[in-house]
Amino acid sequence: MSEQEQSSAAARAFRFAPPCAECGQEGATLEVIAPGGLPERWADWSEQDRALHLQHTDPTCWRRLYRGIVGGSGAVGDPITEGGVVRLLEMLEPFDLFAVQRRFYDHLGFCIPCRKPYCLTCWTVSNGNGWCPRGHDDVLDPW
Ligand SMILES: [Zn+2]
Ligand SMILES: [Zn+2]
Repeated sequence: MSEQEQSSAAARAFRFAPPCAECGQEGATLEVIAPGGLPERWADWSEQDRALHLQHTDPTCWRRLYRGIVGGSGAVGDPITEGGVVRLLEMLEPFDLFAVQRRFYDHLGFCIPCRKPYCLTCWTVSNGNGWCPRGHDDVLDPW
């Protein structure tokens, strides 16, 4: 392990995609792409999404891609500062559900009472409200 990997205070690319606690599928995913880097699953991206990403992002900067349970940033993603990357890493390692709940309107797919993530298939979503497989209800979409 390099020195950089040991320090939680160093920004680095990552892909956070907790498997659904019910069925094991990927639910919400949060990815940070380092300057000069490409998304981790780039090989699986469609031509259209690749073109969108390359045309609308600055590949020399940090980028954040978010696919939530209901919404997300799409193929383009959002620019993020290096400090912003560090704050995300601090929220995820170790995982801080309370911080995630405040930061992400859909809590990265986590049900707060269960403290577990579920995918779109396992959340029952209706008009922005969601019900986890155990019947807890929550708002997953602020719009
Ligand atoms: Zn599932
Ligand atoms: Zn639940």
